[in-house]
Amino acid sequence: MTNTAERTGKVVAITGASSGIGEATARRLAADGHRLLLGARRTDRLERLVKEITAEGGTAAARRLDVTRAAEVREFVAAAGEQYGQVDVMVNNAGVMPLSPLAELRTAEWDRMIDVNLRGVLHGIAAALPVMRARGGGHIVNVSSVAAYEVSPTAAVYCATKFAVRALSEGLRQESAGSIRVTLVSPGVTESELADGIADPAAREEMRTYRSVALPASAIADAIAYAVAQPPEVDVNEIVVRPVGSNQ
Ligand code: NDP
Repeated sequence: MTNTAERTGKVVAITGASSGIGEATARRLAADGHRLLLGARRTDRLERLVKEITAEGGTAAARRLDVTRAAEVREFVAAAGEQYGQVDVMVNNAGVMPLSPLAELRTAEWDRMIDVNLRGVLHGIAAALPVMRARGGGHIVNVSSVAAYEVSPTAAVYCATKFAVRALSEGLRQESAGSIRVTLVSPGVTESELADGIADPAAREEMRTYRSVALPASAIADAIAYAVAQPPEVDVNEIVVRPVGSNQ
């Protein structure tokens, strides 16, 4: 980390930082000199990550967070403010993807996707927006998916949540009147633990082939870092990142 980065580093709160894209984003943004608050439910993973980032000269802290609980997300953003004096960037990254055909009626999994992928992002916006508006600026980064642009069998509910995050991001951008930057980052297949949560055997098997070509999570972290690094008057609205040659 350079001295310049120390002076210009932003305060970034990241949800779902315990693995995959969130973890890679934490490593990348810390290396860029930003100060981080990392949230997820697996605090052991977060604590380990904070130790590694700190050992590399970065600045990070961890806090247990369940994004399905609005009050916890509010407290998470408040904690970033208390720790670092401000919150510049909120990365709404936490997500789950228990795919299955609709006819299987795995309604508890539908609810979980809606609660984490959609309500979780809304909770993040509700927590960060007032703080950012009060300061006169800020940046909300929502991690969506290529599933925000196309629908495929077994993914109807997952796609619905990601289409919704895309709609929310566009609406927030239109309403932000020059003060808040809004970036939608939509990854294609990326190495992470996301597919581990698929309980439906057929969908799980199908995903094994679908996910055989995947980007490293650092590729998505780089895209987020790019959007964060732009000057305040530049708002990178949408970034879609796929593996080369991917049709999905
Ligand atoms: P991972 O499963 O590796 O990471 C998901 C993260 O979300 C974990 O840190 C997990 O932490 C967290 N999380 C899940 N539920 C909650 C919750 N209730 N409260 C707080 N945190 C929660 O997958 P990815 O890194 O791939 O996923 C990150 C985002 O990227 C998701 O939004 C996903 O939809 C999106 N995405 C991923 C793609 C891919 O191919 N990997 C492609 C397109 C989009 P914990 O369990 O510790 O709470």
